[in-house]
Amino acid sequence: MTNPWGCVDLESIPFNKPSAVGNEKQYVAEAIANGHLGGDGPFAGRCQQLLQQRYSIPKVLLTHSCTAALEMAALLCEVGPGDEVIMPSFTFVSTANAFVLRGTQPRFVDIRPDTLNIDEKLIEEAVNEHTKAIVPVHYAGVGCEMEEIMRLADKYDLYVVEDAAQALGAEYRGRPLGTFGQLSCFSFHETKNLISGEGGALAVNWAEFVDRADIIHQKGTNRKQFLRGVVDKYTWVGVGSSYAPSELTAAFLYGQLQRQDVIQAARMKLWRTYHQALADLEQAGCLIRPHCPEHCSHNAHIYYLLTANLTERQALIEYLAQCGIGAAFHYIPLHSSPMGQRLGYRRGQLPVTEEMSERLVRLPLYYELTEAEVLRVVEAVHEFYQN
Ligand SMILES: *Cc1c(COP(=O)(O)O)cnc(C)c1O
Repeated sequence: MTNPWGCVDLESIPFNKPSAVGNEKQYVAEAIANGHLGGDGPFAGRCQQLLQQRYSIPKVLLTHSCTAALEMAALLCEVGPGDEVIMPSFTFVSTANAFVLRGTQPRFVDIRPDTLNIDEKLIEEAVNEHTKAIVPVHYAGVGCEMEEIMRLADKYDLYVVEDAAQALGAEYRGRPLGTFGQLSCFSFHETKNLISGEGGALAVNWAEFVDRADIIHQKGTNRKQFLRGVVDKYTWVGVGSSYAPSELTAAFLYGQLQRQDVIQAARMKLWRTYHQALADLEQAGCLIRPHCPEHCSHNAHIYYLLTANLTERQALIEYLAQCGIGAAFHYIPLHSSPMGQRLGYRRGQLPVTEEMSERLVRLPLYYELTEAEVLRVVEAVHEFYQN
């Protein structure tokens, strides 16, 4: 397709592009040479230790995805049919699926229009005698109001499972996200800040969960204790599944974790360039830029814009596509999805979620994106609003 400005002549800018940035390839080759490719090898150990130390997390277990970490969290919380778990509807399906797999009802709560995070003021009215946990999702690496969420969890004796899939390296009141809840889940999917293709981690912040977390992670066996010489039999001791990623995945991830500061600095620079260069359009009332409260520091996971409405959002995405720029939207609210409707929800129940999900556009943001490419995207957005 062409457009009057002829920007199709330039090389296209994809929405996302995963890349190796450090020693990933060397470590994968080392893993192969080591002759250990299953789960819980030396690279997995290094990744876990690095995350534990960097964020002062008592126990980190690598998983093959954040989805898997969320499923482990649901098993650890021992939720089942008749129980409810409070979460936003504006999130990825895995946040809800992990609990629905256990027969538990997700109790969807609306979001704040400024951060698009769960509205902490609406949580208390969603608590009832069936509630077992609150699952805050730190959208775009901006922290949910953890002070209030932890206060409510304490008051009603609920678990907090942070869906920190997007939030590695971000902070709330100076404390890393993923260290507040009894359990937290991170993602290393190729679309996240640090990647291993597919990948994730469960942070176990509560000591009482550590032993069972090991068992669930080890397919329901006491293999961990057996390897440590604590027990003399390797046997089935509880429920569990296959959650450990292969050593190939862990080796790649270790290369990324070592370069976390470099990756973060690059993303932050690109994020700030977008933010500055789009300020005039916000001032002119054309669009709204992302908001990060003063007491939060985000991790430049997503750069998004809020357009006036759905029609304008679709037109902008189409215009950018004509310019060879990949832009995307998300999420179809879980409560209005076909599965959400089967769980008893209807469109119209969560007005802020429904409105924001129609207005949101994500712009390209990845390690290899250049400043010049960001400025090209910004220019295309300006052109769109001039017409
Ligand atoms: C990416 C993401 C997930 C799922 O992560 P995977 O590693 O792909 O399973 C879950 N929740 C949120 C909020 C996400 O952004």
